[in-house]
Amino acid sequence: MSEIPYKIYLNESEMPETWYNLRADMAHKPAPLLNPATLEPMTAQELGGVFCEELVKQELDETTPYYEIPQEIRDFYKMYRPSPLVRAYCLEKKLQTPAKIYYKFEGNNTSGSHKLNSAIAQAYYAKKQGLRGVTTETGAGQWGTALSMACAYLELDCKVFMVKVSYEQKPFRREVMRTYGASVTPSPSNETQVGRKILAEHPDTTGSLGCAISEAVEVAVTNPGYRYVLGSVLNQVLLHQSVIGLEAKIAMDKYGIKPDVIIGCAGGGSNLGGLIAPFMGEKLRGEADYRIVAVEPASCPSFTRGVFAYDFCDTGNICPLAKMYTLGSSFIPSANHAGGLRFHGMSTTLSQLYHDGFMEAISVAQTDVFEAAQTFARVEGILPAPESSHAILAAMNEAIRCRESGEEKTILFGLTGTGYFDLVAYKQFNDGTMSDYIPTDEDLQISISKLPKVDK
Ligand SMILES: *Cc1c(COP(=O)(O)O)cnc(C)c1O
Repeated sequence: MSEIPYKIYLNESEMPETWYNLRADMAHKPAPLLNPATLEPMTAQELGGVFCEELVKQELDETTPYYEIPQEIRDFYKMYRPSPLVRAYCLEKKLQTPAKIYYKFEGNNTSGSHKLNSAIAQAYYAKKQGLRGVTTETGAGQWGTALSMACAYLELDCKVFMVKVSYEQKPFRREVMRTYGASVTPSPSNETQVGRKILAEHPDTTGSLGCAISEAVEVAVTNPGYRYVLGSVLNQVLLHQSVIGLEAKIAMDKYGIKPDVIIGCAGGGSNLGGLIAPFMGEKLRGEADYRIVAVEPASCPSFTRGVFAYDFCDTGNICPLAKMYTLGSSFIPSANHAGGLRFHGMSTTLSQLYHDGFMEAISVAQTDVFEAAQTFARVEGILPAPESSHAILAAMNEAIRCRESGEEKTILFGLTGTGYFDLVAYKQFNDGTMSDYIPTDEDLQISISKLPKVDK
């Protein structure tokens, strides 16, 4: 038996005291956010109307490598961190692979995902600024839950616009948020101008993330003492999520382990950006080399089939333009897509790194993803979130290739959360009614052709 334990935990004293800002080590910085009206880079003042001051500073800072994690946030982290780095001995045995598989498990908190790492940070800075509360949108509900928990802890008001179809289909998520004191409104709603306009035009709509974003932003900018917060895509979110990678690296260094391949699922890019941060930093500085792989759904393939261009982050087209791999802001994954990761774009930082060849991306079909989830649940015990299962599938395929080639590679992947609220999707899989829809080039061309024309 190897001396590496099943779970590598850190002592509290070994936990990271700083977040790492990957952009500081990038030679080609990600392109700036643009004001959609002037096409000039967004200034701190413009962003300050929507986001908290300290978070605007983090968003725009591409030179400071390390940010001290405020003591209050470190204390909150201690309630559910460090998260375990698990050696997947049982999965290795099942796959009969010589590969060594590790995963960093972020599902050990009530929100069930890594999103709490940034929710507490964003709520903290809002509180520090003396604000009354924050607004946000949520689709499936993980982000809304994480933010509700953070706001309850800091006694901040939390207003969540939840995509109407999820609000109706996932009543349990809603009750978790309300238990933590958040108000949850199905979107589109009558509470905002943009909501009323959408309802007047499409009375039967079941809502979309883009529409919920527009409502949340409107409430934040029209109510004194409120700001808007977002759970993925932004640089500040990647900064906070670097705690995942920093902990993983400290744990691996303790045992002299060096991953050959690092794999993560990619929706807006926050968990992947956080997991790879310190490793990518070494790669950018020429100190070490790692293969880094983003895994996305074949039904929402921003990296693998999107274009690298300026685009809106929301369907309402009121948010700044970001230069990223995108399928176009009007792209909506087909209705049978159950597995999350449905954002049309991708973090600007990861987009630039991918464009410059520092990482790879693959896309996978959802029935294969759920098959991997089932295998994983049966041998490792954890019921994984469908999003996380994209990374599980890619890690398993890598391990199977090692079985065939005899290579003893070390694989690290991010297990971002648990799947207890995704049982409708699991039911479809178990019943054999789950299907795959992979958009055609013509499908994608429709939304890509509507990208804003920007000469940058
Ligand atoms: C939100 C979420 C993701 C995808 O978001 P990223 O910003 O790409 O990390 C992945 N897994 C889980 C469990 C999530 O809740």
